[in-house]
Amino acid sequence: ARYAHVLSSELGIAKGERVAVQVEKSPQALFLYLACLRAGLIYFPLNTAYPRAELDYFLGDAEPQVFICAPQTLPMAQELAIARNVPHVYTLDADGSGSWTERCQSAQTAFDTVVCQADDTATLLYTSGTTGRPKGAMLSHGNLAANSLTLHHAWGWQDGDVLLHALPLFHAHGLFVACHCALLNGSSMLFLPKFEARALMNWLPQATVFMGVPTYYTRLLAEADFGRQHCANMRLFISGSAPLLEQTFTAFQERTGHTILERYGMTETVMNISNPLNGPRHAGTVGLPLPGVSIRIIDDQGNDVDVGHIGRLLVKGDNVFKAYWRRPEKTAEEFTTDGYFITGDLALRDEDGYITLVGRSKDLIITGGYNVYPKEVERCIDLLDGVIESAVIGVPHNDYGEAVVAVVVKDKDRADVTDESLRVALETQLGGYKIPKRIIFTAELPRNAMGKVLKNVLRDEYCYQSAVGRGA
Ligand code: AMP
Repeated sequence: ARYAHVLSSELGIAKGERVAVQVEKSPQALFLYLACLRAGLIYFPLNTAYPRAELDYFLGDAEPQVFICAPQTLPMAQELAIARNVPHVYTLDADGSGSWTERCQSAQTAFDTVVCQADDTATLLYTSGTTGRPKGAMLSHGNLAANSLTLHHAWGWQDGDVLLHALPLFHAHGLFVACHCALLNGSSMLFLPKFEARALMNWLPQATVFMGVPTYYTRLLAEADFGRQHCANMRLFISGSAPLLEQTFTAFQERTGHTILERYGMTETVMNISNPLNGPRHAGTVGLPLPGVSIRIIDDQGNDVDVGHIGRLLVKGDNVFKAYWRRPEKTAEEFTTDGYFITGDLALRDEDGYITLVGRSKDLIITGGYNVYPKEVERCIDLLDGVIESAVIGVPHNDYGEAVVAVVVKDKDRADVTDESLRVALETQLGGYKIPKRIIFTAELPRNAMGKVLKNVLRDEYCYQSAVGRGA
């Protein structure tokens, strides 16, 4: 109430105006989000990793009235705010101190909630999408409420649930999916500043629900003493934001006795598809459409594909955002005439209705006229002995248009795992055109904060090397 009061009444920020926030995770940052919802202001969180040039773009594009930043970035924030006409700048530190909390300390503790309609914009989150500069996805109060109620029910939140929260707060996963469920349930959250495997293991015994990106699970499994004893109180482990490898799913099951529930969503839609709470959770799939979400999988002509065939995944429902911020042409491009949002993901549905994602459509490789879905090749490589994980990309090739290239992380002690040995092993499993023309070993795949492999970084890095490489 105090935060809402300062924003609305003292600073005079009007309904529908933006509050930009680039701060470390803290309970106060969450209160700031809730204050914006309560005051009818648009909460606009920014990844703490964004450098100056990107911030400048976001402030210019979104035109916020307030910018709340970390104390260390204040001089830069002030300069950018002057250049972009942002009238108010405050700081908020990870420990909750800063000029923002100071300003709010003596504010009134009563606030009349500003009435919002389902269609009113609640948040603005930028996403890089498939092409061009990041676009702001406007999520409405109706979108957030619909999705939160659905998830609260689908994942069986119950009395006594305690959420262990280790995700960042600037992304839909940590801010909406995790916090909304706990808040709707009136649950406690164990609010960790960031993910760190040892800290997580200390807190897990006091929690019942955990949500993470796949990397969190692989890091937990990398701790030799992690096991059942840490999970005795746990009811549910959920994974999303990036593909959970089948071997992680299985290893986690073996080590802890828990079956990770994988789900699929995106900034523009929050959650769409989820493995069931009660019912089989299939490794490598993201499950079934959530209640209230309808999906289609279509071919290039716009026709629904048959079971087992790959196509473009479309979604529709009260969870789906209304538009990109000030980009009507982009919004129009990414919706079909009958109101489905084109997710940019490629997927197939099996006979039981479970959906498997096979990659982003922009990552599809077309080599010599044949389509290669990176996920299919990655899956085969990942299952080979001595391989930890892989990413398959297309790089320009004079003859084939694009060539399939695999970037592989292998077990450090396996000198016997080579480009040649992997290709020989793949020959029995994949059609010739799908076998990577070149396999490059690396110590680690580049990932963003949500654990997504940055394929554009790999493409930039290996583009030239691979084109002149052996076999390419
Ligand atoms: P973002 O907008 O940053 O949340 O990214 C959304 C994208 O993450 C989706 O379009 C998918 O490509 C990917 N994604 C989310 N959940 C999963 C999942 N469980 N498995 C594979 N990819 C996922």
